[in-house]
Amino acid sequence: MTTSLPPRPDVQADLTERPELTQRPELIQRPRRTRRTPALRSLTREISLSAAQFIYPLFIHEGQGEQPIASMPGVSRHSVAGAVAKVGEALSLGVNTVVLFGIPDSKDAVGTQAYLDTGIIQVATRAIRAAHPAVTIIADTCLCEYTDHGHCGPLCEIGGEVTVDNDAALELLALTAVSQARAGADIVAPSAMMDGQIGAIRTALDAAGFTHVLVMSYAVKYASAYYGPFRDAAGSTPSFGDRGSYQMDPAGGYREALREARLDTEQGADYLMVKPGLPYLDVIRVIRDASLLPLVAYNVSGEYAMLKAAVAAGMLDEKRTVLETLIAFRRAGADAIMTYHALDAARWLREDAQVREGVQARM
Ligand SMILES: [Zn+2]
Repeated sequence: MTTSLPPRPDVQADLTERPELTQRPELIQRPRRTRRTPALRSLTREISLSAAQFIYPLFIHEGQGEQPIASMPGVSRHSVAGAVAKVGEALSLGVNTVVLFGIPDSKDAVGTQAYLDTGIIQVATRAIRAAHPAVTIIADTCLCEYTDHGHCGPLCEIGGEVTVDNDAALELLALTAVSQARAGADIVAPSAMMDGQIGAIRTALDAAGFTHVLVMSYAVKYASAYYGPFRDAAGSTPSFGDRGSYQMDPAGGYREALREARLDTEQGADYLMVKPGLPYLDVIRVIRDASLLPLVAYNVSGEYAMLKAAVAAGMLDEKRTVLETLIAFRRAGADAIMTYHALDAARWLREDAQVREGVQARM
């Protein structure tokens, strides 16, 4: 084995000139021993990170060409053809799963474009499925990108307040999920935070013959400021009010999170999700310890935008920060990570693996 290490300093000579250091403490435990070489560090490493654990989000619009999203450098709205090409790039990097968000040309009060077979998500799903049979397609199942008021279901008035009509939303979410399954989605991902949505969707999928289609529940989803850039990207900012009456209160605590996770499990969810990710790593751990279901973390748009801004300002090293962040999700207990960094991270993991293989080949 050849080595290009710098010459070793003469430690012994140095010590004799500094007699106070010759008195060695009697340390029985020296954790540094297990970290001495890269091989020793990799021997007992607990957390793994691989491209197959990433879910890549794609925004798809009805127009032509790519529209970069100013608040999310490196992320664009794609045409259907552009999305098909992007999925090919993801697969070539080992990222086998994508989640689709639709941006329709026309919106109305009940989000019709979400559940038409000619809707943007349905069209894109069929095109991606035809070009890439092996990819796992997740369809985001919500109405807020399709309603003209930007809320996650049709509106009603309760006690003088305009709010989302929970039970009317269930019917439309179920229609949306079935049309997404019919287009070829492997997984539907309800994100509206309507009570009973998992059960309504599971029942409708089964009745339509889609017992094999999985439901990934955004079970623990907070009313978060970190969604800001996503709403720019998807054009889904509510035209009045906020989503505080259906999404969870950031100060709600663990009991509320556990209750939401348990209800969705009882209704037939196949996966649970915690959203956002970084400010809620503790919630990921709590759900992980309480549930047997696979768990997904959503590393949301605002987390991505913050990191990108710090990198652009020269404050952080992008590769190291992104990989450390993704490892943090895995350590907290997430099985899979929905992240806009997916393709970059997959590229870096591949580069690092190639460097390691090169080193081994020279040994
Ligand atoms: Zn929504």
